[in-house]
Amino acid sequence: MSALSELYQEIALCQQCELAKYRTKVVPGEGAEDTDIMFIGEAPGWHEDQQGRPFVGPAGQYLDELLASIHLSRKQVYIANVIKCRPQGNRDPLPSEIVNCRQWLERQIELIHPKMIVTLGRYSMAMFFPNKSISKIHGTAQKRDNVIYYAMYHPAAALHQQSLRQAIEEDMLKIPPLLAQVENITEAKPQSKQLNMFEV
Ligand code: URA
Repeated sequence: MSALSELYQEIALCQQCELAKYRTKVVPGEGAEDTDIMFIGEAPGWHEDQQGRPFVGPAGQYLDELLASIHLSRKQVYIANVIKCRPQGNRDPLPSEIVNCRQWLERQIELIHPKMIVTLGRYSMAMFFPNKSISKIHGTAQKRDNVIYYAMYHPAAALHQQSLRQAIEEDMLKIPPLLAQVENITEAKPQSKQLNMFEV
C-alpha cells in the first residue's frame, strides 16, 4: 500500500471535529502521486460527500474543462481540499476546522512533493498567502523553497460570474509556462516576520 493510501485510511478515521459526524464519505483527495502540480480547493460539497472524491460536481466539471484547456486531465494532477469532510449545508469552514484539518493537507504535500501548488479560492489561498486578497493576487505566482505557489479563483465562483470566469480561464493558461520555468523563477524574499500584537 502506498504512503498516500495509508494516509487516506488515517484521514477516514479522523474524528477531530463535528464534521466527521455528518459526513457520508470523507474526501481526502485524488490524482497522480508523482505529479508536479497540486490543486487545492476549499471543502467537499454534496456530490463530493456522496462519492468520496474531490471536485466531482458542477465546479469539478468546470475544473476538468480548465485542465483540458492546458492539455491536462485530472489523472495527471493531484486534487485536494483544505477540509476533508463536507461542512453541512455547504457553509464556510470554521477556523477551528481548518486548523484541525491542516495536518492532512501538509502530509499530502510532503508525500506528493509538487513543484507547483495552485490554490482555488479564498480559503486555500489564505493558507499559503496569508492576509492577501484574491482579487489582487489571482494569476500571480510566488516561489518559496523551490515550490511555486499560484492563486486562482474558485471554479464554483467563476462558473456563475462572467468576469471571474474570464480571469480563471486566463489564469489557467499561465500555468504551463510557469511550470516549465520553475528552475528559472527567483525565490521570493523570506516573508518579514508578522507583527504579533502581544509581542514586545
Ligand atoms: N468545491 C471545493 O472546494 N472542493 C470540492 O471538492 C468541490 C467543490
